[in-house]
Amino acid sequence: MDVIKIWNDFLDILSTRISSISFSTWFKESTLHSLKDGIAKITVPYEPSKIHITENYYDLVEEILLYITGKQYEIEVYLPSEVTSEDNSVEEITNKISENTIEDYKYYSNFNQKYRFDNFVVGDSNRFAYSSALAVAERPGKLYNPLFIYGKSGLGKTHLMHAIGNFLLENSDKKVLYITSEQFINDFININKKEDKSKDNVSYIDVFKRKYRDVDVLMIDDIQFLGPATKSQQEFTNTFNTLYDNEKQIIICSDRSVDDLKLLEDRLKTRFNWGLKVDINPPNFDLKVQIIKNKIEVGDLAIDLSDDIINFIASNCGNDVRNLEGAITRLVAYSAIMNIKSLTINDAMDALSDYTNNLIYSQNTITKIQNIVANYFKLHPDDLKSKKRSKPIANARQIAMYLCRTMTEETQQRIGLEFGGRDHSTVIHSYEKVNNDIINNKELDKIITELKQLICE
Ligand code: ADP
Ligand code: MG
Repeated sequence: MDVIKIWNDFLDILSTRISSISFSTWFKESTLHSLKDGIAKITVPYEPSKIHITENYYDLVEEILLYITGKQYEIEVYLPSEVTSEDNSVEEITNKISENTIEDYKYYSNFNQKYRFDNFVVGDSNRFAYSSALAVAERPGKLYNPLFIYGKSGLGKTHLMHAIGNFLLENSDKKVLYITSEQFINDFININKKEDKSKDNVSYIDVFKRKYRDVDVLMIDDIQFLGPATKSQQEFTNTFNTLYDNEKQIIICSDRSVDDLKLLEDRLKTRFNWGLKVDINPPNFDLKVQIIKNKIEVGDLAIDLSDDIINFIASNCGNDVRNLEGAITRLVAYSAIMNIKSLTINDAMDALSDYTNNLIYSQNTITKIQNIVANYFKLHPDDLKSKKRSKPIANARQIAMYLCRTMTEETQQRIGLEFGGRDHSTVIHSYEKVNNDIINNKELDKIITELKQLICE
């Protein structure tokens, strides 16, 4: 590795760890001069940057270089005139890290610029969540900790998290880390693998801990996927405790309430209950109309939809805001391809006919199928997720897994997770078994047909 490559990796990671203003002010024109004898010499064009970097970013620079090179360096910052060009070199670095690991190490705080408070349309169903999110963005760690936002898919939870992130990056120097629970688990597993293989004295676990604990605001999205992975859950609990004790803000999103997070240990759930829990409900007709109008306006879409069409979308495209957006996109494409300047309601219905039908399919969720199947067999949905193996329960569970496999877009892993944290091979097995059995078993075939009808109603 040469100085340029190392510094590019360094800047790449750094840019995700500090605000873009700080990054361009202090680091944009920096270079790595040399890396040897335990000293990293960095050059910057101006005197103030020298002092500012040393006083404010020393630990961070040290930490990222440690991660990239596997060695701890003292950091010295110079003006170009203060170093000699012959000296410009790097001692041999044995730590070969892949591009993937660089990706893993980045803070995921490059927030989506599209998701902001000012383009979040507020109505009765989401007002509480919106105001709590804004309050937390204005005074992180002080008011509601943790903030737990829950609601069905597509109602704006991730939008609000990014809005908090963007707000903080623009208005404060807070270190913010946004991550999904799946990324957290992967990160934890990878770091453990590295730790096992590592021959030098670098403690990757320490690096991991610093990454998560050295922040002012930690946002974990989709906590329902934290799953039964006990070690990761344990690590998450430890992270939570450290941040909480230091009055750092924690924000959690979930597609279900705390009580319904069946795979989480009670002590973690208790902690979620310490703070403020807010739910987002599906938008009513009026809010959907406003959201659609807002999307057209801020999206700067070259399309003008009549009120009829907007009302049609609001009534026929479900409650998931993602689907409302999808419908608009489709109409924009349709009018461009067909070269129609102003769409009539009939054009719109035509353009959206497949879409409104397919929605029925994409609106099926694992939970919905579990509830319908359990009800059909006079069981409780929890039975399907339990370890119970009595015949009626095991049969119903296999049928439910089969239906999830054929009627949703979810992966086997995810289906397994929702059935009490079972392995994906169990899902494959159930699917194959039911798929074979229906060929000769008329009764089973009838049951499946009836269930499918119930699910599509
Ligand atoms: P969730 O995380 O709850 O599944 P997202 O935050 O990803 O949902 O929202 C899905 C899409 O819907 C995003 O593009 C988001 O901008 C949009 N959206 C959801 N609610 C609103 C709202 N109240 N105003 C504007 N856009 C919204
Ligand atoms: Mg989301």
